[in-house]
Amino acid sequence: MSKIIIETKVIKINDLYNDSIEYACNILRKGGLVAFPTETVYGLGALALNPDAVRRIFEVKGRPQDNPLIVHLSSLGQLESVAYLEPRYLNIIKKLTPGPVTFVLKKKKNIPLVVTAGLDTVGVRIPAHPVAQRLSQCAGPIAAPSANLSGRPSPTDAKSVIEDLYGRVECIIDAGESAFGIESTIIDLTKEKPLVLRPGPVTIEELNEIFGEFGGVEYYVPKSNEKPLAPGMKYRHYAPEKNLSLVEKDKISDYANKDVLILCTRETYEKYLKGAKNVHIIGEFGKPYTIAQNLYKSLRFVDKSSYPEAIIEKLPEEGIFFSIMNRIKKAVSKQ
Ligand code: AMP
Ligand code: MG
Repeated sequence: MSKIIIETKVIKINDLYNDSIEYACNILRKGGLVAFPTETVYGLGALALNPDAVRRIFEVKGRPQDNPLIVHLSSLGQLESVAYLEPRYLNIIKKLTPGPVTFVLKKKKNIPLVVTAGLDTVGVRIPAHPVAQRLSQCAGPIAAPSANLSGRPSPTDAKSVIEDLYGRVECIIDAGESAFGIESTIIDLTKEKPLVLRPGPVTIEELNEIFGEFGGVEYYVPKSNEKPLAPGMKYRHYAPEKNLSLVEKDKISDYANKDVLILCTRETYEKYLKGAKNVHIIGEFGKPYTIAQNLYKSLRFVDKSSYPEAIIEKLPEEGIFFSIMNRIKKAVSKQ
């Protein structure tokens, strides 16, 4: 549990027309930090145009200084106040917003370099979640990484935010579970071809179709000695404290009733593990978005369970499974 240093107000939001949004906006305007829900994961926000407030995000999370933040906005008009829209992609940006996609664009001068970790580009997103929308509408552009301590699984509900950040931030807004459960797809639009820096809820296959007239998208894989284009990619992420390994579906029954927690889909449980006690279901193979939604909570559960270590079922790497496996591979990586 984190050391308690400031008073954290937790607000439950059921409707958008109470005073809670105004309360949270006032905290932001004064340079404070507010954790808030989005449709991907919960974010830890500060006013993007206030460099001192943004610096506190890095301190509170223990986030490396060279890992830039995504700026959350409520409209294309607001987006244009911080970044240069690529005219050739305008229709596509309109099609993908609001939603779980971040665009990397050339930044405007008003965005402080602490937000972009010194880069001349900025990651921008217009979230679809009504609370996130209302916050940036009323307080202005909000710089926000995921609302977890650096390295931990991203939070997909307020309880997980409280675990990591209670006593470290002024306000946590609780609006239930995030719909997607994994972070936004990031597309760099400043290169010759649209470059996917991070797979997410909108899949590469869907993007290839959407960017069809531009010859589709490229998926960026950093070369081993290269500084990655999305600086966050080089850090260990999402990992439980306990050892977690990836296991092929047909080997998973070897672990039934051993002193190991098995994270697997409902279908794999039914087929290979029926009756085993040491199982935690991560979602349905037939409904892969349920796996995305439960993934980080399941990874957090590994450390809460009584088992000394855990394994997780290997999934295919196409469509939304590709994005899910991207996170799982980071969670099992020891780097
Ligand atoms: P998080 O909000 O914690 O999911 O982290 C934001 C991710 O966006 C990190 O992986 C960053 O490296 C990436 N990112 C943010 N801004 C940029 C940018 N201007 N260029 C490339 N990647 C970015
Ligand atoms: Mg993060």
